[in-house]
Amino acid sequence: MGLIVQKFGGTSVATTERIRNVSSHVAREIRAGHQVIVVVSAMSGVTDSLVGYVRDVSLLDEVEAYADHDLVVSSGEQVTAGLLALRLRSMGIPARAWAGWQVPIWTTDAYGKARIEEIETDNIRKSLANGRVAVITGFQGMTREQRITTLGRGGSDTSAVAIAAAFGAERCDIYTDVDGVYTTDPRIVKNARKLDYVSYEEMLELASAGAKVLQTRSVEMAMNHHVRLQVRTSFSEEAGTILVKEEDLMEKQRVTGLAYSRDEARITLSNVDDRPGISAAIFGPLADANINVDMIVQNVTPDGKKTDVTFTVTKGDLALALSALEAHREKIGYQAIHQDANVAKLSAVGVGMRSHAGVAQEMFRTLAEKGINIIVITTSEIKISVLIEESYIELALRALHDAYGLHAVVEKG
Ligand code: ASP
Ligand code: MG
Repeated sequence: MGLIVQKFGGTSVATTERIRNVSSHVAREIRAGHQVIVVVSAMSGVTDSLVGYVRDVSLLDEVEAYADHDLVVSSGEQVTAGLLALRLRSMGIPARAWAGWQVPIWTTDAYGKARIEEIETDNIRKSLANGRVAVITGFQGMTREQRITTLGRGGSDTSAVAIAAAFGAERCDIYTDVDGVYTTDPRIVKNARKLDYVSYEEMLELASAGAKVLQTRSVEMAMNHHVRLQVRTSFSEEAGTILVKEEDLMEKQRVTGLAYSRDEARITLSNVDDRPGISAAIFGPLADANINVDMIVQNVTPDGKKTDVTFTVTKGDLALALSALEAHREKIGYQAIHQDANVAKLSAVGVGMRSHAGVAQEMFRTLAEKGINIIVITTSEIKISVLIEESYIELALRALHDAYGLHAVVEKG
């Protein structure tokens, strides 16, 4: 029997009682004859509190500050790893907890959003060969200058996938608070359905469109390294959703799932010159301020003189984006800035869109029937996204879930 990686998220380890529950999932895999590496998140809410403590004492206006920020906010994972290893040992299962730097997991020095560069496997392999379960802190790494880093919020998913890839694990099970990937958010759409299989590409689009089941980067990594990933819950023994390659999906639905994000804000620059270099002039300053721009539309004008440019940023970046644009007003040369933070993005994702027409039309018709205005539309090969007024997002999700028949789709893996 091979090696498997089990990752437990914050809600699965929220209390010492839940840590005991988690240990039984580890024990089950040990009994089945597997070698096990466990990756853990901080107990839920702990990372938020740690971030709050840091903000109470620092403006975080220098890189040095971010290094210490990471030292503090990575500590929650250490508590969980230690507690789980202790629990396993008290059940008679040999185990040891490992901090990221002890593995070591080498990362870039982009504090707060570091990328993993290399994972050394020797220390852990020796420990596994001695029959010990390795419980590793998620979210953490270390720079070559030996400073602790973190991988961005939700980063322990990425830790788990990277570890599974480095160790050539047979499987990587992500235990979370939902029992799998759903056609859409079941808290909003009551008959949302759990998917048995979803392709890496669809999951990547769903995650980046706002589905919060997995950190986007972890999906990207699983896809690139062919990690067999399963999303499941620690609250039952039930199988979850398995990520597969697109060619292994037997039936390709037109639409596999709907994702949404409320974290959107719209900016429109009116009456900008329609000339070469105008986009570079607008988006350069935003990139310099590290602001991610998502949807972009530029109007075509009949006379080719003046145009409007509309784009979206996260709500959190709105103020920063506006001040960057104000600062470059002269160079860009717009007449006015309009903004709207009461917007949300809804996306339909499915590999079947490559071969089925009419998915977009169905979305537009359904939204029109509900009287919902579309502000911006963008598409990719397997995704259609629309920006709408935020107050309509739940209505839109329910209507589209019905229109695409997502509650009833028959699927095979
Ligand atoms: N504890 C970290 C967070 O809350 C990492 C994780 O849970 O994946 O973002
Ligand atoms: Mg998480």
